[in-house]
Formats: sequence, structure tokens, C-alpha cells
Amino acid sequence: MSQACITTTLFDLFKVGPGPSSSHTIGPMKAGHHFAQNCLELPRDVRVRAARFRVRLYGSLSATGTGHGTDAAVVAGLLGNAPEDCPPSLLQTLMDNPHTPHTRPLGDGEVTVSVSDVIHDAVIHDFPYSNTLVIELTDEAGNTLYLQEYYSVGGGFIQWKGWVAPELGEPVHRYSNMTELRAIVKEKGLNIYEIILDNEMAITGASRPAIIHSLNEIIAHMETSVRRGLDAEGALPGPLKVQRKARMLWQQATRLHASPDQFLTRLNAYAFATAEENAAGGVIVTAPTCGSAGVMPALVYALRHELFIGDRAIREAFLAAAAVGFIAKHNASIAGAEVGCQGEIGVASAMAAAFVADARGYRSRVTENAAEVALEHHLGITCDPVQGYVQIPCIERNAMGALKAYNAAVITCGTDPYSQRVSLDAAIAAMAETGREMSCKFKETSLGGLAVSMVAC
Ligand code: SF4
Repeated sequence: MSQACITTTLFDLFKVGPGPSSSHTIGPMKAGHHFAQNCLELPRDVRVRAARFRVRLYGSLSATGTGHGTDAAVVAGLLGNAPEDCPPSLLQTLMDNPHTPHTRPLGDGEVTVSVSDVIHDAVIHDFPYSNTLVIELTDEAGNTLYLQEYYSVGGGFIQWKGWVAPELGEPVHRYSNMTELRAIVKEKGLNIYEIILDNEMAITGASRPAIIHSLNEIIAHMETSVRRGLDAEGALPGPLKVQRKARMLWQQATRLHASPDQFLTRLNAYAFATAEENAAGGVIVTAPTCGSAGVMPALVYALRHELFIGDRAIREAFLAAAAVGFIAKHNASIAGAEVGCQGEIGVASAMAAAFVADARGYRSRVTENAAEVALEHHLGITCDPVQGYVQIPCIERNAMGALKAYNAAVITCGTDPYSQRVSLDAAIAAMAETGREMSCKFKETSLGGLAVSMVAC
């Protein structure tokens, strides 16, 4: 085995929460929530002196935090909201009223925080992770009572200084990359979905019915986000005044009777729908991130409603897609701030390609090949959201990721699987290397690429 085996769980990868960014919205909200929970455990003599929360953002959290709603997300977390149950309107309310102080009971008193208390600090820094936030509890005079350094490491995952990976069960099937997963498939005669399910049960201790129930919920959340997006109209929040297009595309598709464009236009509409919901701060599923949350739901919705693929095949294919996400996260990154958009839309497209191939009955090798083709053609794509809003180029990029995923599956399902020269592991290694060499201008800082050229013209 090349390195430590994969222990990421399904519901770490697929998280329900508000958009627009897993690393800039869900992660900071979790950090705020975690910090506030820790404060409840502080000694009483500390709690009675507590008066304020203070937050400093670093790296791309500082550069693009406003557009991503980071300030509001961390405050919402400090006020006791977790991503999975935060009312979507709360973030918008906080953003619309940045100077309004909010209080949270602590000990015998209250702690105050407002969105305008969040400080955007250095973009270039020496912390071990790009997306760092430092949260403090202070007394009335501003003296620090308790401080924690958090890292939003992508996909809504957080760590903190001194963080130790939680004790989990041992996976039944140990693999760290696609080559090892493929070997298990061959040696044990299992499908990818069986391997992922076995490991999920072993790592989390959850029963098979419980996992299937949660998986059905995740898939239902994805479909709901598509339907909500198809129903919505008008401009998205923020200064770019981007108009929603999902509904228009859907209406156009209904007029394209018997045209080959109809399926593609619908696929575009589905991807736009969830990506626009994400941009509006609506509830989505990270797959693997918020910015790329439109790709997988587009294919889930299309396969279910256009190709009439059944629940069981959808579920099993979903687990094959999860395997691709796990491997990419383990061997490279799924954070735009770490490797650019290839880690977000590129990985989402690879997952979706595996999903399509598997759902259409092609197993293991074809599934891997489909994922590889989709990822290969996203290599080097930078993260350059205009003015820090997950709108341009992000929304269209979700549609492109969905179409590339479908095409990758079509290409690989129609060719000899053993003639493919590039492995998924090789494509992931190339993504990691490209990400390492990429200038930080192109890693979710909005300091380069389209973020600059569009403003200039
Ligand atoms: S450009 Fe890609 S990685 Fe960057 S915020 Fe948009 S979707 Fe995410």
C-alpha cells in the first residue's frame, strides 16, 4: 500500500448546508459553531468575564470572504447554527445588517458579535493551511480569554491547531488510490459500491439500512435543489447582478421536441439550477464542494427523470462516484484554494462521469476510465471567481462539468476499457502537481484570471 488508507466517510464528503462555498461558508460556520461550543466548557471565572467574539480571516478567506458570505457564516456559527440546520435566510439577514450586534448567552452573561467585527487579514501568511481563521473570546477591554486557530481545508472539512484525527473504525477494504481499489475489486469479486458500503459500516459503525436511508436523503436533497433552482427567477445576490438562467433553459428545452439538443439543454438547466441555488445561499449538498454542487445533481436528476434509471442503480452508482471523490481528496485536494477549480469542478465532473458509467451498468474499469477522462480535461483550470462571488465563472462551469461528465461516460462506455492509456491515479497526480505549481493568484483569491480581466474590460 502506497500510503495511509482512505477513511473519509460518505457523509463527510456529501454534506447538506448553505452555499455558496464549502471552504468559505460551511467550513467557517462549522469553525464558529465549534468555537462557541468550546466556550461553554471554559471555567466559570473565564466565562463571566467574556464579552465579545473576534474573528480574523486569512488567505483566500480574507481575499474573497465577503463574496462567499464567510463573515456571516462564521458569525452564524458563533451564534449556535450548524450548516445542516441553519435557516438559509439567516446568512442573507446577517449580510444585509453587518453592524447589528448579536448576542449569545455564555455563563451568567452574554457575548456579542456582529458581521462587521470580522477582520480580513493577510492573504499571504505562514499558517499551515491557506484558509485560516483565528477566533478569539475577549473581555470587555479586548483582552484575549480564549483563542483557537482553525483551518478550512476544503469540502467543508475543518481542522484546528492541535487537531487530532478522530478515532474511527478500521476499514474492511484498505486502499489509498484507484489502483489498490481496482485490485480489491478483482481479488474479492466485489463491485465498487459494495466496497464503499462495507467500509462505511466499519468506519462509522452505522448499519447498512441507516447508511442507505441517509444516502437516499442526500440524493433527495440534490433533487430538491434542482427543483428549487428550476422554479426560481430573478437576479442572484451581490453586485454582479447575474440573472438566474436555469428556468429559461428548462423552458427552452421543452420547446426542443425531438431535437438532440433537448437532453443537453435539460442537463444544462439542471446544473444551472443547483449552482444558482448555491450562489443564492440556498441549501445544497457538497459534491465534493459547494462551488461544484451543481454537477452531480444534474446527472442524478437527468438519469432518474430522462433515462428512467431506478433507485437502486442510482444509489450504487452514487457510491462509485463517492470512491472517486475520496481518492481525489486523499491524493490531491478538493479545495479551489489549494489546487484551483480542477479540484472542485474537475473532481465533481470525474465523480459524475463515474456515476453515469456505473448507473448505466458499466463496472469498475469503465467507471474509472470515465472519471479519468472527465478529470483529464479539467486539468489546470484555475479558480478565479469574479469579485469573489461564486457566480462567474462558477455557475456555467458546473454545466460544463456536467456535460463533460456525460461525454466522458459516453466515450469510455463505447471503447475498449483496456485501451485507455492514462489511469485515474495518473490524472489525480497531475492535478496535485499542477495545483502545487499554480500561482496563488488562481486559487480562490480573485487576484488573477477572469476575476481581473472581466473587471478590466
Ligand atoms: S472558480 Fe471553481 S473553484 Fe473557484 S469558486 Fe468557482 S467553482 Fe469554486
